[in-house]
Amino acid sequence: MQPRFNALWFIILVPSAMFSLLYLWQAVFPGKINPDVFNYFTSQQVDAAREYARVARLFFIGSFLVQATFLLWLVFGGPAVAIYGWAQEVSGGSYRGGILLVFFVVWLAQRAVNLPFQLYGDYFLQHRWGFLTQTMGSWWLDYIKMAGLDLLLSSLGVLMFFWIINRWHGSWWLIGASFFSLWLVVQSYLWPVAVAPLFNRFEPARDPVLVADVRNLSAKAGLPVDKILVMDASQRTTRANAYFAGLGKTKQIVLYDTLLRDYPRDEVEAVVAHEMAHWRQGHISKGLAMGILGSFLLWGILFLVLRTTLDVEWYMHYPAHTWIVALLFFLLASFASSPLQNYFSRRMETEADRVSITLTENPGAALRLQLDLAKKNLSDPSPPSFIRWFSYSHPAVLERINTIRGQRGIIIGDIPS
Ligand SMILES: [Zn+2]
Repeated sequence: MQPRFNALWFIILVPSAMFSLLYLWQAVFPGKINPDVFNYFTSQQVDAAREYARVARLFFIGSFLVQATFLLWLVFGGPAVAIYGWAQEVSGGSYRGGILLVFFVVWLAQRAVNLPFQLYGDYFLQHRWGFLTQTMGSWWLDYIKMAGLDLLLSSLGVLMFFWIINRWHGSWWLIGASFFSLWLVVQSYLWPVAVAPLFNRFEPARDPVLVADVRNLSAKAGLPVDKILVMDASQRTTRANAYFAGLGKTKQIVLYDTLLRDYPRDEVEAVVAHEMAHWRQGHISKGLAMGILGSFLLWGILFLVLRTTLDVEWYMHYPAHTWIVALLFFLLASFASSPLQNYFSRRMETEADRVSITLTENPGAALRLQLDLAKKNLSDPSPPSFIRWFSYSHPAVLERINTIRGQRGIIIGDIPS
């Protein structure tokens, strides 16, 4: 009773393996630095950014490879059979109890496998480079809260997954993808009001100059923006950022307090304009639409993978294999499809950069903002080509500068480096 390693797995594994190798290669040997970088950055800044990027990249790819190997071993190495036998015994033969036990054991094991990477990458590395302002205790508190939320939602998800499989035999993938799409929408709607406040405090922006700036921009953009929130990011990080989130009534623009504290007013205005541009160009709904399309595609392929790896009877009655195969499939599929996702994301970012300048009519501030963000956040100013193509959700800093400079032929004065 072994899962079959067939051609479909080969098709999924080959790109994942190739991408991992290329990524690993460029993480270790990032190649030459584009000389244009030195028009804006000192060689110390470039060296520091490259060193930070090297370690962060090695941790990213290391974590993926360890997780993928672990799940491959669970599926094809035999432990799935043993885990299921044990779960059946402990749960006294209960189908749902067995599923939940299997889920919990695998969940715990995956967490344990990934913990060293998270602890080092999110805590020690960030601390070493001066990004983290959090204590170890508060980091653990975040970790436990996040894990608890994940455990709660995923265990509901796993019960639903098996309910759907057993209820709609030949078309469960369509129903699964529909429920998943619905979840994507609900999650986008609820995240800013239900999840984000568990970790941070949000307050409406009070600074009258900022509020007036935002009103002015929103009038220009033709957007009724009434929710500009400031988040207490400084309790965790020195990094500055901003994002937009929510749907309908929960729509909001969130600014890190670090941005307001450390950046000049016209650069903050450039950030707000960028976020508004995302909003005006409908990027939240476009992103959601792509997520929904992708989810139907992935569930369809998962259906084929399960049918050919396990038999129909098997994947309904031996949930341990089914669940672990599904986890492995989603891990590999999201890894292998990240260039596609990032391609669309970078296009939207470039569009937002362009539109934001038509709102502020201040390309100089947009330019200084990109440079300040890159310097303070230690972004690699000259990322290796494959890594940029594979994993960059935003264009690299020089590309963003070129977008801003190329916008409507605006001539910008000297930019201090
Ligand atoms: Zn953006």
